[in-house]
Amino acid sequence: MGDTIFSKIIRREIPADIVYEDDDVLAFRDINGQAPTHILFIPRKAVATLNDLDEADALLIGKLVLAATAYAKSQGFAEKGYRCVINCNEDGGQSVYHLHLHLLAGRRLSWPPG
Ligand code: 5GP
Repeated sequence: MGDTIFSKIIRREIPADIVYEDDDVLAFRDINGQAPTHILFIPRKAVATLNDLDEADALLIGKLVLAATAYAKSQGFAEKGYRCVINCNEDGGQSVYHLHLHLLAGRRLSWPPG
């Protein structure tokens, strides 16, 4: 896959408000937040979309989800709740082709999504 804005954030070539990182995952505030807390959790590994995950990525996608839920808990959102979203391709609303999980929290979120 080609280079994306998120690859540049991983390489620290452009700034981001990073809130969490480990060997596999980086998390930073969405530049256009849709909730009081809107964090993007991305794998350091360049995976374009959900379609590009395979069996070898099972641990990686698990780590991505666990990093998001741990962060949500650490910020006090466990009881009231929060939403994790991964958009896939055009109809899913994906605009950056480096896999990312949105963590949205801090307000009541409506359903169904638009
Ligand atoms: P998608 O639409 O692909 O699911 O989500 C991409 C998200 O990345 C959007 O919510 C958008 O606001 C965010 N985003 C795009 N460019 C940047 C950037 O340069 N920095 C940050 N922090 N977020 C970005």
